Amino acid sequence: MQYISTRDKNQRVSAAQAIAMGIAPDGGLFCPTEIPKLTQDDIRALCEKDYRGRSAAVIGRFLKEFSEEELAGFAAKAYADDRFGSSNTAPLVKTEGGKYILELWHGPTCAFKDMALQMLPHLLTASLRKTGETRTACILVATSGDTGKAALDGFADVEGTKIMVYYPVDGVSTMQKLQMVTQEGRNVQVCAIRGNFDDAQSAVKKIFTDPETLEKLDRQGMMLSSANSINWGRLVPQIAYYVSAYCDLITSGEIQMGEPMNVCVPTGNFGNILAAYFAREMGIPIKKLICASNENNVLTDFFTSGGTYDRKRPFHTTISPSMDILISSNLERLLFLASGYNDSAVAEMMKQLNETGSYTVPADIFAPIGELFESGCCDDAATCATIRRLFEQEHYLCDTHTAVAVSVYEDYRARTGDTTPTVIASTASPYKFCQSVIGALGGTVTTDGTELLDQLHEMTGTEIPKPLAALRGKQPRFDLVIDKEEILASTDLLAKL
Ligand SMILES: *Cc1c(COP(=O)(O)O)cnc(C)c1O
Repeated sequence: MQYISTRDKNQRVSAAQAIAMGIAPDGGLFCPTEIPKLTQDDIRALCEKDYRGRSAAVIGRFLKEFSEEELAGFAAKAYADDRFGSSNTAPLVKTEGGKYILELWHGPTCAFKDMALQMLPHLLTASLRKTGETRTACILVATSGDTGKAALDGFADVEGTKIMVYYPVDGVSTMQKLQMVTQEGRNVQVCAIRGNFDDAQSAVKKIFTDPETLEKLDRQGMMLSSANSINWGRLVPQIAYYVSAYCDLITSGEIQMGEPMNVCVPTGNFGNILAAYFAREMGIPIKKLICASNENNVLTDFFTSGGTYDRKRPFHTTISPSMDILISSNLERLLFLASGYNDSAVAEMMKQLNETGSYTVPADIFAPIGELFESGCCDDAATCATIRRLFEQEHYLCDTHTAVAVSVYEDYRARTGDTTPTVIASTASPYKFCQSVIGALGGTVTTDGTELLDQLHEMTGTEIPKPLAALRGKQPRFDLVIDKEEILASTDLLAKL
């Protein structure tokens, strides 16, 4: 198995090269040339394993240069009990109303990004070794909140790497900022940028394309790398939890082997739901993939319009900020796979998106996508109403992102009458978005900082996640705030780590 660019399938690399490079030189995303299949016997064997075993087995099918023992070692470290609280890494919880919630936020930063970003450092450092890279990999991250902390935690004190995170000074929640500025580790640096997320993102892109900076870093024995979901090494660990959820439905007797499930995912960059698509292509019987969006409903329009993607629309700031995104990068991989690796069609669509802000998928390419995917969106009011209803009627507390998925799933079920067991991906702990969740439950926010945790706890009687409780009394290590014009100069800090 090799990896090819979505924009030019003649660009072939190994799995380790794909992970080390992050993105193809032509701007395309790396995809495997074939998708490994799981038989029912394979699935039965996976049912016997714990999450670490399932993860190593699924990832191993895609990364031929990595041995099963090597991956088992990575999984043991990435999903260790002291990082995820228990060996039940990604529990499937059934609510009193019969909903299946896949809790992906038991990791050290309380968002689903940990599922991939605890694994990525192991995959990346091994890939660099396997490709003969000797320079120190410097991971640069622009974040609107969740990715920054998850990447810091994943890469802290990882040999051969340094990590630098840029966040918009006024664009992250209280808890997210606290999490980042108190990060420990010798090789980490956190920097606030005056401006919004787009300013931070475009400033970071400037570093990646500035020849002088790249050359300077090279002279100092450093190279740049990325930890966002265009990197295959971040996507592949996510496939495992959908396979694991199917195993859990079987072992708990909710369904019989071979019976279908649906999956519903609160979506931003399209990475998480694409991982579910890969699980289906591997042979997990998934009937429908339900793509849930907030008011930034560019994907809902894409699916319901029969394949027109149009990002020329107002950007909404919502209470589910990790889904506030108008360019869903990983959709490119879906178009490539669903079109039977039609690289020229994908390259043309991406060129149009870049030049005009929109594209329309040819009808024959869209047909199988339209068959498989369902979609829907909801606004902040519906998100809040869902949090409250779910808590009052089913005694389950969810965060704002998960609530978007629950709301869209309920609409789907009412519309279609489809009663297939549906796994709803829960992407963050409600305690990460205390202000919004307290408000949704009808409370008035009376505190700030880590006292918000106590207020939500007192209102709901639910448990405060240990990593967030541990922020109490922690001293900030980073207080640097820069203008975006200073971003190139800020890379000098990397040499000091
Ligand atoms: C990143 C994120 C999402 C969106 O996931 P994608 O893979 O970008 O679609 C949803 N919810 C939360 C809490 C997130 O952090």
